[in-house]
Parts: sequence; structure tokens; C-alpha cells
Amino acid sequence: MNECLFCKIANKKELADVVFESNKIVAFKDIYPKAPIHLLIIPKKHIPSVNYLKKGDKDLVGELFLVAQGLAKEYKIDKIGYRLIFNVGKDAGQTVDHLHLHLLGGKKLPWA
Ligand code: 5GP
Ligand code: ZN
Repeated sequence: MNECLFCKIANKKELADVVFESNKIVAFKDIYPKAPIHLLIIPKKHIPSVNYLKKGDKDLVGELFLVAQGLAKEYKIDKIGYRLIFNVGKDAGQTVDHLHLHLLGGKKLPWA
């Protein structure tokens, strides 16, 4: 079976600049940062997008946000502000079909 790119990162088969790891979640720097701080927070489990979330994933999704909260604090952008984004599907520009939460900050972010 062909593993997706983010599964490979989660399984250490593909290199990434990892900034956080737990048994269920990994966070790493985006390779093409759109802001001074641009991190991707992913579940290790393969879920293609928000469209595929199940009731049983509730805790996992909550954890993604708590990891984002912690990283925002660690990178000292919790007070000045940051943005959290899930792109879902083609029109939103989702390019990797493995659920990922973007954490962007470190500058005043333009909207749209
Ligand atoms: P999407 O557009 O699907 O919401 O976000 C995918 C993100 O993954 C993009 O911001 C892109 O720059 C990032 N990305 C794509 N390939 C790689 C990679 O190999 N390593 C890392 N660290 N980020 C990647
Ligand atoms: Zn995957």
C-alpha cells in the first residue's frame, strides 16, 4: 500500500523539521512557509480530511487544537495572535490528503 506523504513523515520515512510529537500527534515546520511561523499539526492516524472525521475522532481533533495552543505559546505568538486553518478539498487548496491543522503567525496575516 502506498503511504501518503504525511503518513511517511509521521512514520519517519520522510524527513521533516519536527517540533512536537506524542503517541497520536506530530507537528512539523511547513516546507514552504506562508508566514514566519508556519507549522502543520497532524494526527499520526491517516484521515484524508475533515470530511472523513468520525465521532470517535473527537478527542483526537481536540488534541490537535491543544497542541496548536501549546505551540503558539512556545513560539510566543499566543498573545499577539495566530491563525489555525484546515483546508478541505480542491477549492480550499488542500494539496495533501491527510488531515493537517495549519498554525500560522509571526506577522500580521492578510485575510483571503
Ligand atoms: P494544504 O495546501 O494541503 O492545506 O497544505 C499542505 C501543506 O504541506 C502546504 O502548506 C505545503 O507547503 C506543505 N508541504 C507539502 N509537502 C511538504 C513536505 O514534504 N514537507 C513539509 N514539511 N511540508 C510540506
Ligand atoms: Zn496519511
